Amino acid sequence: MSILIVDDSLYSQRMNQALLESGGYKDILIAQSATEAYQFLDQWSIDGKETIDLILMDIIMPDVDGIEACRMIKQNQATLDIPIIMVTSKTEKEALQSAFSVGAIDYITKPLDNIELLARVRSALKLKKEIDCCKARESKLLEVTRQLEALNKTLQQLSSTDGLTGVPNRRHFDEELADELSRAKREKTPLSLLMLDIDFFKLYNDTYGHYQGDDCLRMVALTAQKAIKRPGDFIARYGGEEFSVILPNTNSAGAFTVAEKIRVDIENLKIPHIACNYNNIVTVSLGVSNFKPGDDIIPADLIKQADHALYQSKKAGRNRVSTF
Ligand code: GH3
Ligand code: MG
Ligand code: MG
Repeated sequence: MSILIVDDSLYSQRMNQALLESGGYKDILIAQSATEAYQFLDQWSIDGKETIDLILMDIIMPDVDGIEACRMIKQNQATLDIPIIMVTSKTEKEALQSAFSVGAIDYITKPLDNIELLARVRSALKLKKEIDCCKARESKLLEVTRQLEALNKTLQQLSSTDGLTGVPNRRHFDEELADELSRAKREKTPLSLLMLDIDFFKLYNDTYGHYQGDDCLRMVALTAQKAIKRPGDFIARYGGEEFSVILPNTNSAGAFTVAEKIRVDIENLKIPHIACNYNNIVTVSLGVSNFKPGDDIIPADLIKQADHALYQSKKAGRNRVSTF
């Protein structure tokens, strides 16, 4: 904690210093001019270790006077919180008015009175301490707010993502389907929904174990995700070994093409499945449902219809796509 005396007169510098020292203030810096004061302040704010907590500023100085110096210090973000007490030989009301208007907090007249000076210094330092405390609390609060925001984002992400496969979960899917169907109705565009189910997956788990079952689920999710290309396309894990895909602005024929691509891409992974009666590899069945502008349906209808189509695919022998 230091006090900076800015004064061009050697006599005043000594006087001020002696008075402050008699009050127990030992860290005293002396600047002969405003320019030298700026240099001190620059140095101190760069260091960041030491602080200047109070400035005693002479009003009348050659070159830059105390008022201009005060204005400069108050305009600088790094120094604007340092209290400034103006020191003047007589109470020049005009000058003091200007000093207060640019941010000085107090003044004292020469010749300095010991008790008066120390009392004013004490209260200015107390004010500075309170300002510093407030600033510290404020920046701590900002930091905590930032941490909370980051945590919220992570939580939001976690709560909408499936932990095993990394694709959006059922909850996220429900929101997305409701939003997209509303939008399709509003904008009078088609919308398609795919339901995908891995064939004989229970047998896969029974044959290879749950760990490998989980790996298989991840590969199927990744492959289906890669197969959908448009920015609005959305895949989610609907539950167990079932995935759902929303295809905005896509009609029945387009949706069938996408579903076929997903089916073929997964077939081409050639994941061994010796207990499966079809080529001994992992395959999937898909069901497609479709909204056309003018249809009066809700999300649950689209899901039911896609489920129904999926059931048709299963019944017809699996590893195929059916449209409702
Ligand atoms: P289908 O061809 O008729 O769909 O037969 P399926 O065996 O795939 O159907 P079923 O619904 O009888 O079995 C689904 C299996 O999916 C049962 C369950 O053990 C497995 N499963 C569901 N979720 C998970 C998971 O998170 N990890 C693993 N490893 N298996 C899962
Ligand atoms: Mg199933
Ligand atoms: Mg299945």
